[in-house]
Amino acid sequence: MVPSKKIIVTIDGWSSCGKSTLAKQLAKELNYVYIDSGAMYRAVTLYFLRNHIDWTSPVQVVEALQNIHLDFRFNEQSAQSEMFLNDENVEYVIRDLVVAEKVSDVASIKEVRDFAVAQQRKMGARKGIVMDGRDIGTVVFPHAELKIFMTADNAIRVQRRFKELFQKNPNISIEEVKNNLEMRDYIDSHREISPLRQADDAIVIDNTHLTMEQQLHKALHLVNEKCG
Ligand code: C5P
Repeated sequence: MVPSKKIIVTIDGWSSCGKSTLAKQLAKELNYVYIDSGAMYRAVTLYFLRNHIDWTSPVQVVEALQNIHLDFRFNEQSAQSEMFLNDENVEYVIRDLVVAEKVSDVASIKEVRDFAVAQQRKMGARKGIVMDGRDIGTVVFPHAELKIFMTADNAIRVQRRFKELFQKNPNISIEEVKNNLEMRDYIDSHREISPLRQADDAIVIDNTHLTMEQQLHKALHLVNEKCG
């Protein structure tokens, strides 16, 4: 049964460990809004790459951010919300490895984080939201009712992301994918501002050996406990 009380659910964790899959499942089941915070950092990165912004220059970063408008729009056909950058649907292109290779550097910049976090907090103001990312339970919503920290075996994570990227680009190698995941995890967990870490009150879900149904069941149980 879906509880009537609306809460904030945060899902943080390593790259490609199934956060967004669980977040989407949960949001659908609870009739909540799903927000993919990583898509926002990816869209900012795409803008910087396309416009040749030197992101080591704070002046250029601040100026560029003023020209970036991000919003999520619900696509009735796919029943998914999609990332729009200045009115352009970039949901597909932000998943490219070219963006993935730079996104962790861009996401380490204070001005970029302030820009994204302010918007994320607004989205959660009315609760009834599932947001996934790296700092959602620690920084964006430190008072969220339910915080999940997801993890999975490294080899499984690489396989999952490889499968996804290979469909778009058959020239991609498993090594490239593995290197990218390792690099992002390292930068994300070692950066000065809002590093990826498990919140003290987060509940860990390791989905290495879980089916999608099992992980949803676990998460729904936790939601019911928090709403009870
Ligand atoms: O979740 P996803 O893999 O799409 O995120 C892409 C990148 O965006 C991460 O590797 C991380 O550098 C950054 N990110 C972040 N904080 C978040 C979500 C994503 O720094 N809350």
